Order: sequence, then C-alpha cells, then structure tokens
Amino acid sequence: MKRFDYVRASAPNEASSAINSKNDSFIAGGTNLLDLMKFEIETPIKLVDITRLELEQIESTEDGGLRIGTLVTNSDLAAHPEVIAHYPILSRAILAGATGQLRNKATTGGNFLQRTRCYYFYQPDSPCNKRKPGSGCPAINGENRSLAILGTSDSCIAQHPSDMAVAMRLLDATIETVKADGSTRQIPVADFYVLPKDTPHIETVLEVGELITHVVLPAPIKGIHTYDKVRDRASYAFALVSCAAVINSDDNGQLTTVRLAFGGIGTQPWRNEAVEALLTGTDGNADVIAQAADLLLGEAKGSGQNNFKIALTRRLLKQVINRAQASHLSSNKGA
Ligand code: SF4
Repeated sequence: MKRFDYVRASAPNEASSAINSKNDSFIAGGTNLLDLMKFEIETPIKLVDITRLELEQIESTEDGGLRIGTLVTNSDLAAHPEVIAHYPILSRAILAGATGQLRNKATTGGNFLQRTRCYYFYQPDSPCNKRKPGSGCPAINGENRSLAILGTSDSCIAQHPSDMAVAMRLLDATIETVKADGSTRQIPVADFYVLPKDTPHIETVLEVGELITHVVLPAPIKGIHTYDKVRDRASYAFALVSCAAVINSDDNGQLTTVRLAFGGIGTQPWRNEAVEALLTGTDGNADVIAQAADLLLGEAKGSGQNNFKIALTRRLLKQVINRAQASHLSSNKGA
C-alpha cells in the first residue's frame, strides 16, 4: 500500500473542500477501497475520513418517503422497521449482498460507489481500460463469465456489482450531494451512472470532491416485492443475474404495476421502463413475457463465457412474473 495523507472532516462541505484532486478519496466503511489500496488499484494521495459526520439518520419525508444518511450502514438500513415494512425490496437486496461483517461496515453512499469485480481490474500488471485508460480490455476475449451483456462498449464490459443500487434504481431513489463550495444537488439514481463507452474509468456523474450526503426514497410502491439473485454459491457471491421486482395485479389477474431492475447483466443497475410498460395491463401470459424478454435483451451482447446470461435472464424474468401472478391468484382466492 502506498503512503497517503489522512484528514478527518467535521462537516460535509469541509470534507468536500479537503478533496483537491481525483487522486484523493473519501473513506467511510472502506470495505472496497481498502482492498483497492492494498492492490494499488487506487492510490489516493489523501484520504478524507467522513465517519464523524452526522449523516447516520433515517428520517421520514413530508411526501411519505425516507431520507437516508450516507453513513447509515447496510445492516442498519436493511433492518430499519420502515424499510422492512414499506421497502422490503431494498432490505432483501441489501441482505443478498456480501456478508454480515461487511454489511456492518459498508455504508449506503459507499455501496453506490463500489467498483466492478472484473478479474483484470484487480490485476495491476494486466491491461485494463478502466484502471489505465487506453491500455486495452483483455476481458472481452478472456475471463468474462461474470461480466455484463448490456450497456457494454468495445472498451469495457465490466458489470456493476451492487445489489442495493439495483433496488434503489427500481425505487426511483434520488442521491443528494454537496460540493466544496457548499452547493448541493439532487441526482436521480437513473442519471447517476455513466455508460462505459470509450471512457470506462468515468463511472458516475460525481465531480471531484462531490460528496454523497443522503439518498431519498419516494413514497412506497404497493405490490409484491421480490429480489432474486442467481449466483454461483448461496452467499458471499456477486450476482450472475439478479432481478428486483415490484408487481401488483387486479382481481382479474391483469398486471397493474410492473417495476423491474436487474443486476449482474449491466454495466450499471439495469432498468428498462419500456419493458415494464409492455407488461403492464396484460395478464402476463407466456407470449407477453417472451416479448418483454426480447425487448429487454434486444441489444444484449455476450462475449463468450457470459453468453449464458441472456438465456438465464429470460428464465428469471419469466419466473418473477409467473410467481407474482400465482401469488396474487392464491391471495385473492383466500380473501
Ligand atoms: Fe478493465 Fe472493464 Fe475490460 Fe474489465 S471489462 S478488463 S474492468 S476495461
């Protein structure tokens, strides 16, 4: 690990103004950053410790949502009574990720910013356009079983690793930030991530020194909340394909609400509102699901080892819709 300066911030804009270049970094839980520093993938000149900032609260908002401080740990967010009662999809997605020990340290803001687990990204002696722009992407013709099939480019096919961010994308969460000059902005999660194109080292719209302070959830969505995660082992594994879903039906079995977001397949948490619109108002029959899958995966591109993700995503979509319909039918019969 390379030497670095360390400062502890006592206010959000003080933290922002302490970051002088893209080589400086905030640190909170450090669950990804410390690994990156040990491998010298990230070599910050200065670390700005934000753990003493008063950003650990979860508050109700006037419009019926929640405002979550960036330092709320993943464990505390997943276990919060309001989250369990009204945003179960968020709780389930968080609990599907990492391990209890990591969730106890990892923070809400940091979870959005975790880096890909592409094998080559973690090999300092390997080319990698994300780590060293212009050096190449050995994953495209190499070890790519876990990597993305949507949103990729000729420069990078790295998948986004977060489970929490998939649920946040589905819930239409908004990220609040502060900059060094004290100005703030609100960024919908839908606009937060940047596709790799020919600059895969740029992953979000955050500016140098811009600090995530809160995440705001709108009012809850009615329906069955599910988070399915297909992975190589039952715990402590990243998603091959995951699907966050909120689905509701009327008494006739027509789908009245369909929201779907996917992990493991995209270079960012993946949501396609046209797919949701196609399914809404239908009875979710096999033909409609097949059309929805065609629409979702029309631009999917496998790179060899990860080709299976296309068929796997189709099957997962079918399972999610069929199970929600069956659940509504059985609850209506019992009513
Ligand atoms: Fe690097 Fe992206 Fe290629 Fe992986 S997929 S080697 S992160 S450029």
